[in-house]
Amino acid sequence: MATADAGQQEELSTPEATLLVDPAAPAPSRTAPAEAPTDEPHRPAPPTKQQIIAEFSARKPQEWGLHVTGVVTRSAAGQIALTLDACGGPGGTACDQQLLTTLRKLNVPATLFLNERWIQANPALTAELARDPLFELANHGFLHRPLSVSGKSAYGIAGTADISQVYDEVMGNQAVLQDIIGHVPGFFRPGTAYFDDVAAAITRRLGLLPVNFTINGDGGATFAPSTVAAEVGKARNGDIVIAHFNKPGSATAAGLAQALPRLLGQGATFGKLGAVLPL
Ligand SMILES: [Zn+2]
Repeated sequence: MATADAGQQEELSTPEATLLVDPAAPAPSRTAPAEAPTDEPHRPAPPTKQQIIAEFSARKPQEWGLHVTGVVTRSAAGQIALTLDACGGPGGTACDQQLLTTLRKLNVPATLFLNERWIQANPALTAELARDPLFELANHGFLHRPLSVSGKSAYGIAGTADISQVYDEVMGNQAVLQDIIGHVPGFFRPGTAYFDDVAAAITRRLGLLPVNFTINGDGGATFAPSTVAAEVGKARNGDIVIAHFNKPGSATAAGLAQALPRLLGQGATFGKLGAVLPL
């Protein structure tokens, strides 16, 4: 019994628990929960790479693309989800501050998919974004590779070659992000947004929801402002919009600055993926 009490004392001395203890309240009874409550749902540890290889090696992919089986592209919520990628790599490590300013001014939340290369180039900015409640950080892969169990390519970019590389692409950046944000990210989108169906299933088995989009908002940061505005302006409840915030020279910020006030004026509301998709 003394051991159990000592254990409980230990739990209650953690910073999270301290906030929950009212100093005027009587000492906690022995029936109080031993674990301090947190706002994170308990999730089991993901399988190891060896377990994933053993579980999936017999499966042959049937689909390759943006909208394959197992990949979420819309929600059932009465909100629009805006997702913004930061891809990193040559020419891809900048930050579109004008776009972030627009979101903050309009109070439009967004889920930011960060690639590990972008994070390495922007550590302080990543920490700042992690602290901003308007944003939610998600996993955009380690080397920004299309997620394939058989080495397929997309847009001339070589995909992961096998299950082992799929695991590394997802979990390499998962560890980096978890260190920064203090909890396990819940959503994954690979570089180029291409999956095969087995890689999508592996992503789910690793505890992440594979998420793509209903509306391509900026065509990989290539659309003109009027095209961005027209495409994003089509968004309705349940839609997931993709655009980029790592290309400040693109028209994405200008297009969103046109589309978002219009949508808000029509009564649209926006939610982060964590608010519109069940994990
Ligand atoms: Zn990307």
